[in-house]
Amino acid sequence: MAKADYFARPFPLSLRLMPKVFLKTYGCQMNERDSEQVAQMFVERGFTLAPAADDADVILLNTCSVRDQAEQKALGTMGQMGRFRQKRPHLVYGFMGCMAQSRGADLLKEVPHLDLVAGTQKYHRVVDHVEEIIRKKEESQMDDLRVSIVDIEEETESQNTIRDHLDKDYGVSEFVSIMQGCNMKCTFCIVPYTRGEERGRPIPEIVEECRRLVDHGVKEVTLLGQIVNLYGRHEFPRVDDKSPFVQLLEAVHEIDGIDRIRFTSPHPIGYKDDLIEAFTYLPKLVDHVHFPMQSGSDRILRLMHRPYKSEKFVEICEKMKAARPGIAISTDIIVGFPGETEEDYQETKKVVERLQFSNAFVFRYSQRKDTPAAEMEGQLTERVKEERNQDLLALVNEIAVKQNTAMVGTRQEVLCEGPSRYNVERLSGRTRTNRIVIFEGNAERHAGQLLDVDITETTGHTLYGDLVIAE
Ligand code: SF4
Repeated sequence: MAKADYFARPFPLSLRLMPKVFLKTYGCQMNERDSEQVAQMFVERGFTLAPAADDADVILLNTCSVRDQAEQKALGTMGQMGRFRQKRPHLVYGFMGCMAQSRGADLLKEVPHLDLVAGTQKYHRVVDHVEEIIRKKEESQMDDLRVSIVDIEEETESQNTIRDHLDKDYGVSEFVSIMQGCNMKCTFCIVPYTRGEERGRPIPEIVEECRRLVDHGVKEVTLLGQIVNLYGRHEFPRVDDKSPFVQLLEAVHEIDGIDRIRFTSPHPIGYKDDLIEAFTYLPKLVDHVHFPMQSGSDRILRLMHRPYKSEKFVEICEKMKAARPGIAISTDIIVGFPGETEEDYQETKKVVERLQFSNAFVFRYSQRKDTPAAEMEGQLTERVKEERNQDLLALVNEIAVKQNTAMVGTRQEVLCEGPSRYNVERLSGRTRTNRIVIFEGNAERHAGQLLDVDITETTGHTLYGDLVIAE
């Protein structure tokens, strides 16, 4: 739009007018958490959050690179959202997160209306960049001026910038990022290239963040890291033969008001006896661990660059079951990895049968550009991958249904999260083993409470029960 059009009215995109920001997040819980931090930073600077993109002055997509499909989705959405500029030429568009990190300035060529590319170590700079773009447009009085900023350099201490939560209605359960990055270099994974080296936040800062969450009524925290149990191994010493992660668990456990502690996701490397032992003396640790196995075949694990044997994985799980009887272990499994034979796949199935996971996220291997596995020989056809996927899912479901059915007639401690998503007349909560329970109750009185619920029935995946009313 030409300069002359503006003489009679205020510039449509001005920092004085509380611009509205729309944020959309793809991918994992860490991305969710990063987006929340960015949203809070915008609010602190006087922006408001827009519930929909067509109502926004700034559109930001926080991207995921784990699968090609996730990148294509974000690119497609950004492409479609370009049409909003016809009516509102002042709109600012930006990509953040993993795809921004891995593709960098190339994104500016791919998406002609894009203004900002901010990598995974730059979340705390996004507001500055958006303000700079707005200021330049305002100064030029040309709202369709393209101001391109690409910021994807490494930045030390960036792990310490994900610490604020939105001023919002807090849930009962919140995520806390304790580290960034991963050094493990699994051959199927893009994370080490998009999130950089492992960097842990200091324990006192994490504890402080958890305390602030308790002040807002939060009862459960989930500690997040790409390889959460290896937290702090490069920065902090072992004390009394305990890893920094176990020291952190102990410190969070001390906080009055926190009823439950979860963490995700651990790696078998570094899942040592001190962590297993922690389940015997830290009761706030829930009776559930999400523990990615990826494959039950040693040959495939080697190709995946997962440096443990299947037997070792099983041994850790058995020790966990001994340390915390009744613990539920869920996992991630990739089927159809390059070179996976029928025998390899059967090895995986055998471990699933042996360990009886409470749940398993089964992924069909998909070639991820710029990862070593994408170049490996022996890529399997989609048909074989799909067959194994369906076959394993059937087994996983069968186990889950069996376990849930066995819970009918038992009494469970449930942390009530509030009205059920699918039926607001009822309440929803989670058992200590992370199973969802639906029951009748009073949202105002029961949300955020630990309650006893008698399990009366199950549909296979969801449990239903009756609230136990204290005498
Ligand atoms: S442990 Fe492996 S799968 Fe997990 S983030 Fe690191 S490289 Fe990726």
